[in-house]
This record gives sequence, C-alpha cells and structure tokens, in this order.
Amino acid sequence: MAGLTKEKILDALKTIEFEGGDNIVDRGLVSEVVIANGKVYFALDAGNEDPQKLEPYCRKAEDVVGALEDVSSVGVTITAERQKSNGSQANGQGNGHANGQADNQTNGKSNNPAGGQPQGGGAEAAAGQAIPGVRHVIAVASGKGGVGKSTTSVNLAMGLKALGLKVGILDADVYGPSMPRLLGLNEEPQTGPNNEILALEAYGVKVMSMGFMVAEGTPVVWRGPMVMSALGQMINKVTWAPLDVLVIDMPPGTGDVQLTIAQQTPLSGAVIVSTPQDLALIDARKGINMFAQVNIPILGLVENMSYFLCPSCGERSDIFGHGGAKEEALKIGADFLGQIPLHMDIRETSDAGRPIVASNPESAEAQAYMDIAKKVWNGLDAQGEDTRVAAPNIVIE
Ligand code: ADP
Repeated sequence: MAGLTKEKILDALKTIEFEGGDNIVDRGLVSEVVIANGKVYFALDAGNEDPQKLEPYCRKAEDVVGALEDVSSVGVTITAERQKSNGSQANGQGNGHANGQADNQTNGKSNNPAGGQPQGGGAEAAAGQAIPGVRHVIAVASGKGGVGKSTTSVNLAMGLKALGLKVGILDADVYGPSMPRLLGLNEEPQTGPNNEILALEAYGVKVMSMGFMVAEGTPVVWRGPMVMSALGQMINKVTWAPLDVLVIDMPPGTGDVQLTIAQQTPLSGAVIVSTPQDLALIDARKGINMFAQVNIPILGLVENMSYFLCPSCGERSDIFGHGGAKEEALKIGADFLGQIPLHMDIRETSDAGRPIVASNPESAEAQAYMDIAKKVWNGLDAQGEDTRVAAPNIVIE
C-alpha cells in the first residue's frame, strides 16, 4: 500500500466538481483522510446545508477513490450540523469538523459493486439507530485515561458472557485501542461476501477494534467526524447480530468526540469507571454529566483499584481511602456497581491477553467483575427489550 497517499486521494477527489465551479476539496467539504491497510475513510461535511444534497457527491467520491490502485474499500460519511427542531436551518457556516458536534449519516458503502446489506446492521442505518439483532448497547466510560476503563470493559463483557449471554465488545478508543492487547488478538478482520466486516472472536465474545486495522504506533489524527465515520462502520457493518449486549469501550475523557459518540450510538445505558481518588471522582462526575446531557441512563459506577489485596497475606488495605465512588453514586441516585481491587493478577492477565474473568473465573477478582456484570444485566433486563433513549438533537446556535 506504499503507493497510496492522502495526496493521491485528494487529487482524485478534486476531479469531482461542486456547484459554482469549485471541486469538493477546494470547497472545503472533505475532512481529514485516514488510510488503514488499503481502507480509506473520510467525511463530507454539509455544514448547515441539507446533508441529502451531498449524497450524489458521496457516491462519486466512493467511485473515484475506489478506482485508485491499492484501495480495498472506501468509507464515506456525510456530516452536518443538526438542524433546529422547527426544521429551520441553523445560521452561519458549519463547523462540524472541528467541534465534532455533527450529525453523522454513515453510509458505510464500499467500492464493492456487489454492495448488499451486511448482517448485523443496515449499511444505511445512521449511528443513532438500533442495531438489528442487538438487544442492548452499553458504554463503559471514564472521565480520564488510566483508571482501568478498558480492563473493566473487557472483564465486564466476559462476565456477561459467563452469565450465558451473547456478548460483543467494540473498542471505540480509536486514539489508543486496547482490545488487541487485552484479548491477545492480532488478526486483520476479513470481509464477507456482502462486504460486511466479520467480527473477530475471543473467549466466545465478538470483538472489533480500530487496533486490528491500523498498525500499532501508526499516528492517526482523528477528528470528530472521522471517529464517527469509523465508529459508524464498526457499528453498522460488523457482523454483531445476534447479541444480547454490545459493550462499547469509550475513548477516555469527556470531550466533544465522546459526547458525539454518546449521542449518536443507540445506548441503553452507561457504566462509569473511576478510581477512589477525589481527583478521579471529579472526572467521573464529568462523565456522568456528559451522559445526562444526552439523556442516557447511568447504569452505575465502578470503583476500580479500590483497595489493595496483598498477594502474600490476603490482607486488604484501602490505600486511596474508601467509599468515594459509592458516596458519589448515592448522591447522584445511580447504582454503585462494585469495587475492583488493585491486584497484580488483573494487570498481568490483561497484559497477557487473558482477561481474568475468562482465565481465572474462580478468583476473588473475577468474582468482583462477575457481581458487577450481574448488576449491569439486571439493570438492562429491567429495561425490557428496547428502551433506548431517543437521542435529542444538539443544536449549534
Ligand atoms: P484505561 O482504559 O482507563 O486507560 P486500562 O484498562 O488500560 O485503563 O488500565 C491501565 C493500566 O492499569 C493497565 O496496565 C491495566 O492492566 C492496569 N489495571 C487496570 N485495573 C487494574 C486493577 N484493578 N488492578 C491492577 N491493575 C489494573
């Protein structure tokens, strides 16, 4: 793929004329272009205009880029600022690229002339719509990085699997994907006959991560629309169905990208991971507020690295103080899902690609994750089949 460059892609896109004499690149409609192993992703930004207007350009863009040498597939997303609820257009020129508060319409089309509907989700489905065959989608989030969000996501997924559920895990942390390491997976996903992306599997759980498509250490600059484009495809083009729960490991933090994901993904609820330190709890509060802004229920708080279990004597030490997350949960009326000890086995099994719930289910640490999985499932089960909250419009004034 050495011959494929962003410049070549932009040159090809410059052949597409836009009304008024410009081409779509010079008109500023094309976002950052991401190339990953011959797969090309970019977005066309409609700003405040009707996104439908860009549909024909989207198809042309797929065709010209798909015809380039070394391109195996093309993912084009149309982004636009949301329109005001009374149907009138927002004033001013759109800025969906920079702020990520964009309404993304993921086309998930490819240059495969066979086209067709992938299993597990219509290619035309917008990211906020339900994923056919997936009962619940939950987000695992944290106010900042390094608190054990990914470790919790993967062990929660394994715990749900151990309850007899069909489970998938989507690594939405495009900036620092962890699932390849946490699950010891290094394969590039294959595409099926209808150009659907075949989910990988580890310990009986379906998995998809940008980390399977972009070589480790490859610097990729992700802007809001790019994240949504990649994520939209990971949601709608991957063979998830049938699933009881799809666990989404969110990118750490509470910026616009995270807010957009929270808003655009068909979430049943969110799990917030925090460490006991006050500082982390302030961050956790930001995470809670972010989901509150878009009306996603908080399924509960997990306190990670909560206490230290001495590997030699088994004695418990509350090295960071005790009970902060529980109090916080009580204050905001969310469930407290449980505490996970700081334990060497958790780190070692994670680094070795063998999550502790799958590799040592009898251990006290695995049991702590299992208890959390049961509470999460009870919370979801109580919601019934489809209680997804309709995402409200974010209007940029
Ligand atoms: P995040 O996703 O929040 O950035 P990770 O899940 O990648 O955090 O965890 C960060 C590091 O902490 C990893 O090395 C992981 O193995 C370790 N870790 C996470 N939770 C625990 C725990 N309860 N005990 C010991 N190590 C942990």
